[in-house]
Amino acid sequence: MELRPLGQTDLKVSAICLGTMTWGEQNTLAEAHAQLDFATERGVNFVDTAELYAVPPRAETQGVTERILGEWIAARGGRDRLILATKVVGRSPQFGYIREGRTRLDAPNIERALEDSLKRLQTDYIDLYQLHWPDRPVNNFGRLGYVHDTVPDAVPLEETLQVLDKLVRAGKIRYVGVSNETPWGVMRCVQASMQQRWPRIQSIQNPYSLLNRSFEVGLAEVAHQEQVGLLAYSPLGFGVLSGKYRGGKRPAGARITRWPNYDRYLSPAAQRAVEAYARIAEGAGMSLAQLALAFVNSRPFVTSTIIGATSLAQLEENLAAEQVVLPPALRTAIDEVHGDISNPSP
Ligand code: NAP
Repeated sequence: MELRPLGQTDLKVSAICLGTMTWGEQNTLAEAHAQLDFATERGVNFVDTAELYAVPPRAETQGVTERILGEWIAARGGRDRLILATKVVGRSPQFGYIREGRTRLDAPNIERALEDSLKRLQTDYIDLYQLHWPDRPVNNFGRLGYVHDTVPDAVPLEETLQVLDKLVRAGKIRYVGVSNETPWGVMRCVQASMQQRWPRIQSIQNPYSLLNRSFEVGLAEVAHQEQVGLLAYSPLGFGVLSGKYRGGKRPAGARITRWPNYDRYLSPAAQRAVEAYARIAEGAGMSLAQLALAFVNSRPFVTSTIIGATSLAQLEENLAAEQVVLPPALRTAIDEVHGDISNPSP
């Protein structure tokens, strides 16, 4: 498994990061631990979780995923061999059950969120602490066009960075990252950190897949120039890029079968794109999932591809994609489809 530098840090993370958000909902503790054993035996050293998980988010399962991961760390040991990423939620009135609804990226909330995550994860430090989404409204989670929205009391990024600085100095966090951020937000953080000697943003965890290449519009250049790489989430578009929903199929137990409102990757345009990518994969003799993951893995601005799996068979296929090299003709064919059907699932 290839290891890549995380931003400007001394950490080297595996090119594939193990996502966790199905644990505690679609996957049991035993299944999650089997996934962790399987992935780490194959060279994965990077695991991504969040205080919010399991997904879909609900009060009864909030924090369960971190707890499952913490029990594995406690049982197996070797905490120092693992690069552990977790997240604090941004402003989210919809999750009133988290800190009694006081979910703001200010000192009291971040400090309490971190303490709770550390307890659940049974560790005394987090390698990469990420802001799950900004405190201010941004056009993320399915929106491509800019919607002007503002809240009068958004916590300034500078205030948030100052809290993170304190926590890094206290040794509770090694490095910090953002998620669901925009070019403005990332640049503002990078510049403020340089001026104030606050911790530098080392990663951007945003969606990126054959169905959503919007990262390339503004953020890819930022990633390159500032050495703050992409941790690409939903690389299979919630599983749509495995082809399992083609022709209107709804396999039992699969994410979008269980939660049909998770239809972000199933618009008519996305389905047309999936058909075109499936033809490319068939022509190349590989599965659609492997084409989709190999594409993400090969992008120069990607530090790590965060995969998700609900079975060991899926995990095996997804990890194997790390070895798949896409020849130039295949990349051209992919770009042609992208040119025709650009970002159908932002
Ligand atoms: P994804 O790759 O788009 O979807 C993964 C899902 O697709 C699996 O749970 C599985 O679901 C299905 N699948 C995976 N491999 C398959 C295969 N080989 N064949 C058929 N089906 C397959 O990724 P994701 O789960 O959305 O996201 C991955 C991770 O990114 C998460 O665990 C989380 O750590 C992170 N994430 C972060 C954010 C954020 O806001 N920062 C948002 C989303 C995700 P079924 O078996 O149910 O079909």
